[in-house]
Amino acid sequence: MALRTVTHATCPCGHHGSIVESRYDDGETHWYLATLRELSHNGIYDGLDPLFSETTPSCPSCGRSLGPEHATDKERIAASAVVSP
Ligand SMILES: [Zn+2]
Repeated sequence: MALRTVTHATCPCGHHGSIVESRYDDGETHWYLATLRELSHNGIYDGLDPLFSETTPSCPSCGRSLGPEHATDKERIAASAVVSP
């Protein structure tokens, strides 16, 4: 079973990006991958939210570091086959 979670984040400057988490578990194999879309990796978030502290997203437009307070929406997408990005 593969599950993809997309966390949308909006910077105060208006730029919008997202963090895509992919999880796969069929009982034998499991992996986890978090990738950024339309966001940079060089943020400075160091708080309690594991997703943001692991990916440290920042805005590619203005350079601001983004944290969970900038998350605007979360969607879960179950997929029988997830293609790795
Ligand atoms: Zn920005």
